[in-house]
Amino acid sequence: MATGKPTGEHIGSLPDSSGTYALLLALSQSVQLRVGALGECRFDSGWYVYLGSALGPGGLAARVGRHIGAKGRTHWHIDCLTRVGEVVRVGWLVGEQRRECSWAQAVGDWSGARLALARFGASDCRCDTHLWAFYEKPDLAGLPGAGVIALLDLAEPPS
Ligand SMILES: [Zn+2]
Repeated sequence: MATGKPTGEHIGSLPDSSGTYALLLALSQSVQLRVGALGECRFDSGWYVYLGSALGPGGLAARVGRHIGAKGRTHWHIDCLTRVGEVVRVGWLVGEQRRECSWAQAVGDWSGARLALARFGASDCRCDTHLWAFYEKPDLAGLPGAGVIALLDLAEPPS
């Protein structure tokens, strides 16, 4: 059983430039959440991969830091999930190009990927979702060209 919490110190290794990122989240128990306009959804315990882009000020470091530190108000769909789960790993790739949609499609092809909630994180594009659920821990190193940092080294979701 893991008791550690991400401290955010590793976020210093993320660049403050623009890029695309993937969050690997561990959810220790199943939860029912309201996700903005998408409504109520049950999220099974296990692993989740969320794909996003950070093209604003502060780049990847600022955006990912916000996902890890934010326990307050919700702005993005993913904020609902980061409040109850733990971000254990981050994959990223620097660049002005918005790769979140191609990454979302790539992760959806990974073995064991399940649609968690249609349109999650995908309000502004045509993807099925930007959030994929897994029972087995997926490996972010499978993202094309991505660097990966570990925030919490968990073999199983914390319980
Ligand atoms: Zn998309």
